Amino acid sequence: MRGLMMDSQLLTTELLKHAARNYRHIEIVTRTVEGPIHRYTIGEAKRRIEKLADALVNMGVQPGDRVGVIGWNTYRQFEMYYAVGGIGAVLHTVNPRLGPENAGYVINHAEDKFLFFDNTFAPLVAALKPHVPCVKRFVAMTSREHAPAFPGELDIYDEIVERGRENFDWPEFDENTAVAMCYTSGTTGEPKGVVYSHRSVVIQSFAACLPTAMGLGEGDVLLPVVPMFHVNAWNAPYSAMLVGAKQVFPGPRLDGEGLYEMFEAEKVTFSSGVPTVWLNLLHYLEKTGKKLNYLKRGMCGGSALPEALIRGYAKYGVELQQGWGMTEMSPIGTVNVLPPNLRELPAEERIKHQVKQGRALPFVDMRIVSPEGKVLPHDGEQDGHLQVRGPCIIKDYYKREGKTLTTDGWFDTGDVALIDEDGFLQITDRSKDVIKTGGEWVSSIDIENAALLHPAVAQAGVIGVTHPKWQERPLLVVVKKEGAETSSEEVREFLKDKLDKIAWPDAVEFIQEMPLGATGKVLKTELRKMFGSYQLPE
Ligand code: AMP
Repeated sequence: MRGLMMDSQLLTTELLKHAARNYRHIEIVTRTVEGPIHRYTIGEAKRRIEKLADALVNMGVQPGDRVGVIGWNTYRQFEMYYAVGGIGAVLHTVNPRLGPENAGYVINHAEDKFLFFDNTFAPLVAALKPHVPCVKRFVAMTSREHAPAFPGELDIYDEIVERGRENFDWPEFDENTAVAMCYTSGTTGEPKGVVYSHRSVVIQSFAACLPTAMGLGEGDVLLPVVPMFHVNAWNAPYSAMLVGAKQVFPGPRLDGEGLYEMFEAEKVTFSSGVPTVWLNLLHYLEKTGKKLNYLKRGMCGGSALPEALIRGYAKYGVELQQGWGMTEMSPIGTVNVLPPNLRELPAEERIKHQVKQGRALPFVDMRIVSPEGKVLPHDGEQDGHLQVRGPCIIKDYYKREGKTLTTDGWFDTGDVALIDEDGFLQITDRSKDVIKTGGEWVSSIDIENAALLHPAVAQAGVIGVTHPKWQERPLLVVVKKEGAETSSEEVREFLKDKLDKIAWPDAVEFIQEMPLGATGKVLKTELRKMFGSYQLPE
């Protein structure tokens, strides 16, 4: 017997309509690429989004067409999210940090017909133009007065919006239609295309708003530092509209000072970003002695959340919560919101739980599998390959059908992890980064997190280096905080009571700048190149 409910489709347009009906006066504020602050309401945004949707249809954007966009978090890209997806086309967010070669690759692979970009990226797009013949029209996301220099024909975003008619009649279609696509950051091999559906985005946005996840609500002011050019800014532009949170977009200013100004001026209560972003802001606060007067909570994901960050922000009254996920998972898999019994623990006890990656969102099924393929119990002790499945998790990469899942239908995350009886996930490492020493596995993440507790350490990356007896031993690579001094011996001594002996790094090397990937993670591949022939001390 089938249920007798309407089969209305889960489309992102419904989120826009919902927000406009219920939260029309809530603001959306942007530090624009051109400089000034732009401010309007959800009601006004909807009007412009409908005009943009109409104009896109008139420009010839067809259902299923890929529309590329290379831009910062701004109200214009926010408008693109709803207008492009709403007409049944696919917004392909391109990460400018992929570099010209990979950016060109993904635009061609996705076959983008239209390419929208912020002025910052005009030189990049001009250089790409001869190499992306699939693109028929280029659009600068600005006004006529700020039009950038560009070779050949260029459309101007604000003029396109103006050409559109109001009260656009949104089409209805199957919720499994693609809404957006995003390529993995390609640190190992070519970037791979992940295609989100309206259904997966809507389900994930609902789950992300739960109190056991981001817990957003009306009255919250959300500033997503995570970029709209990668995994839909962890769905912030959708989640905020579900609950009526005010949105603040930082544009191109993601440095400590730039973020701090927006946090204070707009009374931001919640923010989301990778550890590097949170570290930069913390250093800024420590350097200037400034306080955060409004920020209450933040979500940190993309790499392991170091204990030093949890402690650092606690001093400013901010609770950092860890999230774990992947581009392939829409992206959030788990969030660490402590239940009341753990929340009441003394701080030193509590932090042992806070450094875990957290519990799964609804509809995220996780299992741990041994290297021999045996499914392991969730006992908090045995770690193995982490595999996932659910309606917001990839089934196939774009144009690589049939090669993505295990034979029994799970997605292997490439992470090594354990899960305890209460459902808490703890990532040991990427399977490629785990250090195999004398038959045991050492977590590079544990060493990095311990090193970041040292007062002179700004950034840390650990790689395994070949060892004649132990197969591999850890090398810790450090960037010092500005003006701070320390030595290899002192850092190694500092780690001795924080790590098991097997994890003590055999050597510590200092570098000026940490190689970071397109999503702000330490690039272990680059560290391995830099220290390829490294000789560990006897
Ligand atoms: P991406 O698809 O670029 O977001 O990368 C996903 C990968 O980032 C995961 O498979 C993990 O290896 C890593 N990652 C994301 N969040 C965390 C976290 N909280 N702790 C440890 N690793 C993480």
